[in-house]
Amino acid sequence: MRVLWFCIPAYGHTNPTIEVVRELVRRGHEVRYYSFEEFRGRIEGAGAEFVACDDFLPPIDAKVERRLRRVSTTEMSVQSFRTVANLDPVVSADVEEWKPDVVVTDSACFWGKLTAVKHGLPWVCSTTTFAFNEHSSKYMSHSAREIADLVLGLPRLNREIRRLRPLGYEVKSALDIVSNKPDDNTIVYTSRTFQPCSETFDEEHYRFVGPSVRDVAPREKVGRPLVYASLGTVINDRPGFYRALIDALRDADADLLISCGKAFDPAQLGEVPSNVRIEQYVDQMEVLSRASLFVTHCGMNSASEGMWMGVPELLFPLTGEQRAVARRVTEVGAGSLLDEPVTRDATALRRTVLAALSDESLREGSARMRGDLRSCGGPAAAADFIEQVA
Ligand code: UDP
Repeated sequence: MRVLWFCIPAYGHTNPTIEVVRELVRRGHEVRYYSFEEFRGRIEGAGAEFVACDDFLPPIDAKVERRLRRVSTTEMSVQSFRTVANLDPVVSADVEEWKPDVVVTDSACFWGKLTAVKHGLPWVCSTTTFAFNEHSSKYMSHSAREIADLVLGLPRLNREIRRLRPLGYEVKSALDIVSNKPDDNTIVYTSRTFQPCSETFDEEHYRFVGPSVRDVAPREKVGRPLVYASLGTVINDRPGFYRALIDALRDADADLLISCGKAFDPAQLGEVPSNVRIEQYVDQMEVLSRASLFVTHCGMNSASEGMWMGVPELLFPLTGEQRAVARRVTEVGAGSLLDEPVTRDATALRRTVLAALSDESLREGSARMRGDLRSCGGPAAAADFIEQVA
């Protein structure tokens, strides 16, 4: 079987696919994976053939870059539609020549979904967030800025959509592309328990395969408990937040490890006490294997990895999607919310972190979810489904 795979340039969307690719290759299938140079190593390491899309991303100026950093959905959609047009000649020729049996595309990857539809190929949607339909999307509470961005951006999006028609892409709207339709064959990297409104997704088209992670054996916890904090890999440019955590846990009977991302130099955070370490990127699964508390932005992957390892979470979501994940983590009892005002008061923040560290009910909730997520079938179930759709 030949599998043509597409993903956007994001760790959170790429990482869960890697073990599925490895499993397909192990079964003797060929996987050709359209991605970006940053991810070449992981993709080739899993045994797929890598195709670089970097040169097909539209050039961006400082204004666009600012909007993308603020996670403007309109701007991301405009850039995605342009990428569809830029990639069209290459991908269309490849489909004609290589004749894939099935397309697997990330749920937010416009060029993957539109390629499958244009060429009439069977396809599977790889959904690294929750599956979002009219019911589960109610879990996302959008800020006024996010809503204004969506509404004011409509004319720009419609212009981009009109430009795609002559190339053979019939697009209704950006929202139509990213939502999960009832009949779309879809892999979701979580459990039915954790997915909100899971009863609205049928068994035939939806496979909840659980997080697709590289497992690490938990380490025995000796000495002071470790608090691990990360805001993920996209919106992590928050020196004030990291500084607040450092001040709150100064000389506490706990260690603090912060993964602050690559947007600024950690030296900017100034003097750091001896129980605190700052890194720009860590092996998150390895760190979770010895952590007692995870302060997380609630990216779907991070939240799932924490529960997979049975580590209670303190939740600091920054976007609508992350707020949806945070809400579910609290509902299943595996974490509690960290309110923004608390992060501005070192004493209150210290009290909140220490209380979460000794909260027995959070530990029980995490342990329950650990068992639940590990019973979903994982990459093998995802590979079975892709074979079935092909
Ligand atoms: N990650 C990591 N090391 C770090 C920070 C993040 O390995 O220092 C990984 C993390 O394990 C997860 C992914 O990057 O798999 C982040 O995805 P998530 O959906 O949590 O958040 P995003 O970065 O997309 O906001």
